[in-house]
Amino acid sequence: MSNQLIYQGKAKDIYSTEDENVIKSVYKDQATMLNGARKETIEGKGVLNNQISSLIFEKLNAAGVATHFIEQISETEQLNKKVDIIPLEVVLRNVTAGSFSKRFGVEEGRVFETPIVEFYYKNDDLDDPFINDEHVKFLEIANDEEIAYLKEETRRINELLKDWFAKIGLKLIDFKLEFGFDKDGKIILADEFSPDNCRLWDADGNHMDKDVFRRDLGSLTDVYQVVLEKLKALD
Ligand code: UDP
Repeated sequence: MSNQLIYQGKAKDIYSTEDENVIKSVYKDQATMLNGARKETIEGKGVLNNQISSLIFEKLNAAGVATHFIEQISETEQLNKKVDIIPLEVVLRNVTAGSFSKRFGVEEGRVFETPIVEFYYKNDDLDDPFINDEHVKFLEIANDEEIAYLKEETRRINELLKDWFAKIGLKLIDFKLEFGFDKDGKIILADEFSPDNCRLWDADGNHMDKDVFRRDLGSLTDVYQVVLEKLKALD
């Protein structure tokens, strides 16, 4: 059956299509934080994130990164390859911020000589806990080889993204990726890449990402619109 709701997420809904290996992602106007404890409708966010994520995934595909992205089909919708999501949030940090600063008592804005990769276990009931490689293996989420691949691929993606954002005057502070197994059992990049799941600072240190919502710094959509316009100007 096509066009059946198969998963309802915080920022996206996922529908089946006529092709069993393809899903439709519909970006919504919802913003959440603290694992959904704070929830707001922000009109226009879905359209912006669908465009931003489509643009970035197109560039990643063109750069040879294996991703789930097929095509954007409307303002809020895109087609993606169906994957079995690996229940890990893979976070890469170029600069200290957010939970890292809080957890370790380090001020925001310190640059890591080598970017740091962290795993969080995607599990809403457990509040997505911080998890290490040994835990990942014990829980049979991924084996050594897969863990190494996730880390290497995330670092490779970071080098591409950092460079693209630098070209438009934005510093990529940190971000979260999700990966999944495609129909052939290959690990590919899934989910989205938008200012909802990364931190971007402009030359003046302004937050150009979801911290505008988290920290009540102004209009989220005004900021996301600026990010989109800048990305569109990239060759
Ligand atoms: N992030 C995300 N989803 C989450 C947690 C974090 O997309 O459930 C992103 C977040 O936007 C930031 C990066 O991962 O770009 C690192 O987030 P952090 O661990 O600092 O947590 P936060 O302080 O954002 O809750």
